[in-house]
Amino acid sequence: MAAAELVEACWREVEPAWRRVDELALINQRRVLAAFWSEQVSAADLAGSTGYGYGDSGRDKLERLYARVFGCAAALVRPQVVSGTHALRLGLFAALRPGQHLVIATGEPYDTLAAVIGLRPAASSLAAWGVTVSVVPLRQGQVDTAAVLAALRPETKAVLFQRSRGYSARPSLSVAALAECMQTLKAKRPDVALLVDNCYGELVEDQEPTHVGADLVMGSLIKNLGAGLAPTGGYVAGRHDLVELAAEQLTAAGIGSEVGPTWATQRVFYQALFLAPHAVAQAVKVNILAAAVFERLGIEVTPRWHEPRTDLILSARFGQPSALLAFCQAVQEAAPVDSFVHLEAAPMAGYEDQVVMAAGTFIQGGSLELTADAPLRPPYIGYLQGGLTWEHGWVALERVAQALLQAGVGRIHQSPVQPSFPVNPEIEREHRV
Ligand SMILES: *Cc1c(COP(=O)(O)O)cnc(C)c1O
Repeated sequence: MAAAELVEACWREVEPAWRRVDELALINQRRVLAAFWSEQVSAADLAGSTGYGYGDSGRDKLERLYARVFGCAAALVRPQVVSGTHALRLGLFAALRPGQHLVIATGEPYDTLAAVIGLRPAASSLAAWGVTVSVVPLRQGQVDTAAVLAALRPETKAVLFQRSRGYSARPSLSVAALAECMQTLKAKRPDVALLVDNCYGELVEDQEPTHVGADLVMGSLIKNLGAGLAPTGGYVAGRHDLVELAAEQLTAAGIGSEVGPTWATQRVFYQALFLAPHAVAQAVKVNILAAAVFERLGIEVTPRWHEPRTDLILSARFGQPSALLAFCQAVQEAAPVDSFVHLEAAPMAGYEDQVVMAAGTFIQGGSLELTADAPLRPPYIGYLQGGLTWEHGWVALERVAQALLQAGVGRIHQSPVQPSFPVNPEIEREHRV
């Protein structure tokens, strides 16, 4: 069986799972559209502002749209937020003050947060500011609520959850799983702010952490909610007081969210939010198909193709650097931009290991676009994410399968990939606004 037939055979297998992805996209599209209707978005809102950005009603309206989509009180959605890490920094410094204590409930956080928090020494970290931190590891891939409760101190003022796996071997956490722990914490300690690193999770399920008790979520616009269109930006959404404190971290005390020009991004941010449910669904479809292809090649993946998704990341365990590099190189060669580039692992700001990145993207580092990356460390797990269209994912997977077969990394297993996907999946159709 050649690579092209392999991908087609896998598609036949995963088609019922793809249909479920479309159903979720429809639920999320309804919620996004309802927000546009409620806020009466008009052409004038799309114009953008310059200078200070005072009186930018289109910007304020977009932030109310986000708040509606997230089912929360307020949001800050700005091109001046340069990345997810930046958004997370704003949220953490908003929720905590010197002398207070942070608990991380989902184990070691994403690589770039180590310096932000102070788990790796940094002059501008939370720790250097006088905030102490406890990291509670996951237990068998789930939040250890008893251990999180035990880690709380009188001066604990925030608990941080990370929804997506990041560059780790742990599973991603569903909104329902987070909800369970968050509700217990809320009951015991209503004074503790519950923060969620929502990177890669937006619109993958039919609800967001803010629908089930999170006080603040943070993420990047060159991931899900940017729909592949937003050229930069990040967001913070949740409780009104926390969002305003985050705005003061971004700008200045006393100024907060009142300033911030949107001259080049306003229309695009609106358009991106409108398109995001569909764009995210495309990436999830690519993720499911890729899992099936890897499984057939005998490469261990998580999540497996039939398992539910809560983010856009597929981890594939290659076991050796050469296989990992062959995989990334094939994704690069299938990209619309820089397909001719030869990849090499290199050091990168914020990351401890050398990193290899296949990122032939229109937006630099945009990872709702089809990308593959990995820190170069055992057991050589590669992370595949994004895909603006399932068609691009399909073509890229043909190339990946071809490259891996040629490199002798995988071989095609003839047996069925998995027991078939459960028909009639229980999808919540409730319309949350
Ligand atoms: C992408 C990501 C971040 C932030 O990364 P940036 O590159 O700064 O946008 C944080 N946490 C997780 C889990 C992520 O996937």
